[in-house]
Amino acid sequence: MLFSLSFSVSAIPETEATAASDTTPGAISENALRDFEESIFLHPQQTYRKLVTLAQANDFSNEGRVWLLLRKAQSENVLTLYKEMDATLVTVAPLANVMTNEQHALWLYLQGSRMHQTGNISGAIDTLKYAVEVAKENTNSTIYVLAIRELGYGFALSGDYYRATLILQDAYKNLVTLNNPFFNGLLEESLGDTYNYLGNYTKAIEYYEGALTFFESIGYQPHVASTLLGLAMVNRKLESWDDALSYFNRYEIALSFTDNHSENFYLHYGRAMTMAEKGECNLAIGAIDDALSLSGPIDYNAELYKKRALCNLTLDNLSAAKQDLSKARTIFNGIEALHNTQWHLELDYIAGLVAFKDNRFEQAFEYIHMYYKDFLELQRLNNSEYVTQVQATMEAERKDKEIALLKQQTQLQAVTAREQSLKVRQKNMMLSGVALIFALLLIFVIFQNKNAKKLLALSIRDELTGLHNRRYFFDYFENNLVKLNPNHVGLALISFDIDNFKHINDNLGHHVGDEVIKTVAQTAANTLRTNDVIARIGGDEFIIALPRTTLLQAKEIAKRILENIRSHRFITKEGADFSVTASLGVAYHDQNKFIALDVKSLMESADTALYQSKRAGKNRFTVAA
Ligand code: GH3
Ligand code: MG
Repeated sequence: MLFSLSFSVSAIPETEATAASDTTPGAISENALRDFEESIFLHPQQTYRKLVTLAQANDFSNEGRVWLLLRKAQSENVLTLYKEMDATLVTVAPLANVMTNEQHALWLYLQGSRMHQTGNISGAIDTLKYAVEVAKENTNSTIYVLAIRELGYGFALSGDYYRATLILQDAYKNLVTLNNPFFNGLLEESLGDTYNYLGNYTKAIEYYEGALTFFESIGYQPHVASTLLGLAMVNRKLESWDDALSYFNRYEIALSFTDNHSENFYLHYGRAMTMAEKGECNLAIGAIDDALSLSGPIDYNAELYKKRALCNLTLDNLSAAKQDLSKARTIFNGIEALHNTQWHLELDYIAGLVAFKDNRFEQAFEYIHMYYKDFLELQRLNNSEYVTQVQATMEAERKDKEIALLKQQTQLQAVTAREQSLKVRQKNMMLSGVALIFALLLIFVIFQNKNAKKLLALSIRDELTGLHNRRYFFDYFENNLVKLNPNHVGLALISFDIDNFKHINDNLGHHVGDEVIKTVAQTAANTLRTNDVIARIGGDEFIIALPRTTLLQAKEIAKRILENIRSHRFITKEGADFSVTASLGVAYHDQNKFIALDVKSLMESADTALYQSKRAGKNRFTVAA
């Protein structure tokens, strides 16, 4: 469900707009039409009537006609006359090919904001990105600010709060020097909306209050109203019920700019929900009935039914609560787009409370358990990692409170004859709750661990061969070598280097050289046992650690490595046919000698032995003295 906080908007014209007071259709100039915006905001209702009259006349050039229709759609947007707005947008569409850039951008912006209202968020984002692109030529134009703002709103609705704040803050930073109260107001209001969605209500209030001051200073009633609604809703979320209700009162007064009563629905809706949340259920039920009689959007009605169900539970009207719940369910069943959203899942939560009141405890727990499970899954799917973590934490905290509450209620009922059985169930409930929290923790830990492993893999692998790299060998393996190598068993290190490798690079090319390194690495690795570790130290040089090995076994392995490397035939695409050899140095640490293992000096010995092999004619191994 989209709690749309914003009216669509328009701007301050550069010149005084006289169009609205001109009564003769034919006398209106095209410039005046372009500059119509201010009157749309100062006198929305009268301006709209004027535009309707003008649209009936037909004496405009194409450009003039486009302005007229776009301004009409814009003022319909401000007055939330969406059916009329859709019709106007259909009328203007065939003129798309004669639109100026400025008009084109406005047209795209209006379509984008309409998509928001119908819930087509991804369509809106695409269209608005395009609008921003077209408007970008002139970044200090109203249309540019409108489009950026609406695009930010789109990102926020799609859960991408990071991108939303980023583009809005960026636009604000660039436009603030213009000192245009309308632009500043628009951007602050949008930032308020974004922080509101993000759940940072203190910041949202700061921005809304800033926006309100700007809008009041220029007397743009539709924006004064939408900002007051934003403030009312944030205060509701902050559970400052009285502040929320007083903002709803101010919103009601500000709404006098329009006689379109559809806006009254949001007023009654917000008030009713606030009263219910404040706990004034007797008042709230009446207010909810009022709101329901206004035929607002059906998904909002579902929210009202849900709240009334909760109030009826509080007032011990169990059967009324059941009826409300089933009405809400029916609505949700009919709106596929809302399936598995938070609002839909909350039905299970309420069903749990209803079952509890009905003494069906097991079922109550199942519902509530299911609600939390699905809700967390939803968070995981829909949100960025950060938001998920924050929300999961908040949910977990809330869940603790719910369980404590259920426990309290259970204890109250424990004085009845079923005291014993209730206690057992309560214990089960607690245990399952604890199990759930543990499961969540476990998932979190596994998730973290997986990521950490991925990162580690990136930094410990050699890109060309896929073997461990130098860093791994020196940093990590050095610390673990001793553990891998218990008492009374030896440890061998083999250092090896391909013979005359430079020739291959020089004569057959670097790419063949790469292939040789890869193949030699693979051949050596295939010769080793499971616990042996091989790493590429650099260029054509490798090191192998053989834990739990006798000197005899180490020599055997060195011999096999030599043989396997030398017996591999390389045949290149270019027709070269060759084989390579390697030289090895073996160093051995004998645990029986009770000398502390010093990995560094063992490596140095292996290197020295390797160079002895090279000096002695290559293609051999030498055991360090
Ligand atoms: P020796 O028998 O004494 O080992 O002689 P060599 O020609 O093999 O000389 P050395 O081991 O010193 O040379 C290694 C060469 O490997 C030097 C460098 O240009 C080349 N090299 C280093 N890294 C890479 C790589 O990733 N790919 C390729 N193709 N060549 C590399
Ligand atoms: Mg070499």
